[in-house]
Amino acid sequence: MTPLYLDYNATSPLLPQAFEAMKPWLTEGYGNPSSVHRAGQKARAALEGARERLAQLLHCKASELIFTSGGTEAINLALRGTTEGAKRITTAKTEHHAVLRTCQALASRGTEVEFLELDAEGRITSLPSKDGLVSLMHVNNETGLIHPIAALAEAAHRAGAIFHCDAVQSFGKLPVDLKTLNVDLASFSAHKFGGPKGVGLLFKSKKTRLLPQMTGGEQEGKLRAGTENVAGIVGMAAAAELACRDLATTAAKQLLLRDLLLGELKKCVPGLKVMAALAPRISNTLLVSFPGGVESDLMIMRLDQEGILVSAGSACAAGAVESSHVLKAMGVPDVEARSTLRYSLGREHGEADMLKAAQATESAWRAFRKAGI
Ligand code: PLP
Repeated sequence: MTPLYLDYNATSPLLPQAFEAMKPWLTEGYGNPSSVHRAGQKARAALEGARERLAQLLHCKASELIFTSGGTEAINLALRGTTEGAKRITTAKTEHHAVLRTCQALASRGTEVEFLELDAEGRITSLPSKDGLVSLMHVNNETGLIHPIAALAEAAHRAGAIFHCDAVQSFGKLPVDLKTLNVDLASFSAHKFGGPKGVGLLFKSKKTRLLPQMTGGEQEGKLRAGTENVAGIVGMAAAAELACRDLATTAAKQLLLRDLLLGELKKCVPGLKVMAALAPRISNTLLVSFPGGVESDLMIMRLDQEGILVSAGSACAAGAVESSHVLKAMGVPDVEARSTLRYSLGREHGEADMLKAAQATESAWRAFRKAGI
């Protein structure tokens, strides 16, 4: 039985079209794009073609895109590459660990790290008001909350700061027009929108100064040393084109499906709570907390046995369930935070999937409640 995969915010299956586009670059198109001979030039043309196509989708110049090994590397390059010395970073406690732990590392070397205020939904309630670097995510991976990036970037610029946006969870789900958002740096990851894992992108506007973080060759405008992952990059461009098609129609369809799922869950689980319920949220994501304190990992394992693959607002570390730092930052009580499930939808899901997920969730929750767990 093929499982029902509802964990698209963790990763998405590789789109068949992306796989097809990659194949030649894994076989006969083996040249190194930095080589002068014809095999190298062929690979170079594929690489630059992919860069052009991605730039068109993002509304930026091809020369402003730097290929990386994924979202985490793009974020590290943005944060570390612009905070040379002891500058300041302003961010929020609900950011992904790729941002927060990089800030921690930079703080230990003298960078001042400041956190903006948040409300109980995870919305930012204080504007960036100092210079240095401001780093904020477009969409939160756990709750699906959407931050008003254009307004936040404008405030950052007014304060004399440059702005980095972690757009890993928004690209391919929401329109991401870098001109309109007016950010200086933005990070992307292919595997979140139907591309392969281990490949990503950093946008750096022409005027933004960035120091490379790896020493080696002169690839990517001398900003990211190392032979490019040609097949991965070609796959990322193919996936991006498909993901950006019919964004509004897909979002509208997913909203109906998410409401259906929530409606069904609410019918059978009295007291079910939606996280970030009052905030603008991306339509593919639903994070709920179950009453009665049933631990997320037990629910996830039980649902896995039933063929439903979901995730939680908490991360497993060394066998113990740790409360999500995102929910903690929102002031969600620990007992609620430890009893959450996140359903994140893809394009192919339909009503029957939502009904199946809701029914399996209800029976899992009831079984644990009955057993007094
Ligand atoms: N930022 C956000 C918001 C994410 O959700 C993720 C992945 O979970 C990342 C960054 C890291 O991306 P990657 O897995 O490509 O390193």
